[in-house]
Amino acid sequence: CGIVGVLGSHEVAPILVEALKRLEYRGYDSAGIATVNNGVLDRRRAVGKLVNLSDRLVHEPLAGKSGIGHTRWATHGAPTEGNAHPHQSGPVAVVHNGIIENFRELRAELTAAGLHFQTETDTETVAMLTQHNMNGGLGPVDAAFAVLDRLQGAFALAFLFHGEDDLIIAARKGSPLAIGHGDSEMFVGSDAIALAPLTDRITYLEEGDRAVVTRAGVEIRDANGTLANREMREIKMDA
Ligand code: GLU
Repeated sequence: CGIVGVLGSHEVAPILVEALKRLEYRGYDSAGIATVNNGVLDRRRAVGKLVNLSDRLVHEPLAGKSGIGHTRWATHGAPTEGNAHPHQSGPVAVVHNGIIENFRELRAELTAAGLHFQTETDTETVAMLTQHNMNGGLGPVDAAFAVLDRLQGAFALAFLFHGEDDLIIAARKGSPLAIGHGDSEMFVGSDAIALAPLTDRITYLEEGDRAVVTRAGVEIRDANGTLANREMREIKMDA
């Protein structure tokens, strides 16, 4: 339902939770964040209000300056902690808005390849297929792009990787996603409102776009893989 991502210069967990709060108005049943800290990918999730996630983070803190977060409005799989995003498969964590229409087919294919699913969600197939591609020798960007080529449905996605403190991959098809530009910091949000206190410099992804985000900036490709030039706008919002 709501997606945020931060490649920052401060501890990112509180920033992610704060950004998710700005998306609360959209409604949600659970929430979670993942961070990379000195290369180590880890996550925390909680059912119910964001305060439950914040409480969890007090007792089980999550360090790191890079991270993604999500508020979920369940479409596939009950609103449990296990079905909450981010979904992690080995070296990759994924947050997702919308629906992967062909997830059953992908799931059957991956199950036949010997992979074991932990959740009932359509989203887990995205994480699992990315891991599968990385096991096959692809780097994170190629692995994620190959997954995007296979997904049907309407979605926005953000990927975070173990061993990659300076990388978020973001993609949009039928569900909005914005990239925020900071000073040596970069942001991702399903709604520019989420990013309002962080930056007012926004690039909206267009249909089928996929973005490789690092602190140095963003490289956007269209659905054909061609480098795309998307305008950056200054959006004035009440932070
Ligand atoms: N289809 C996904 C799920 O049920 C994402 C739902 C959402 O947009 O929050 O987990």
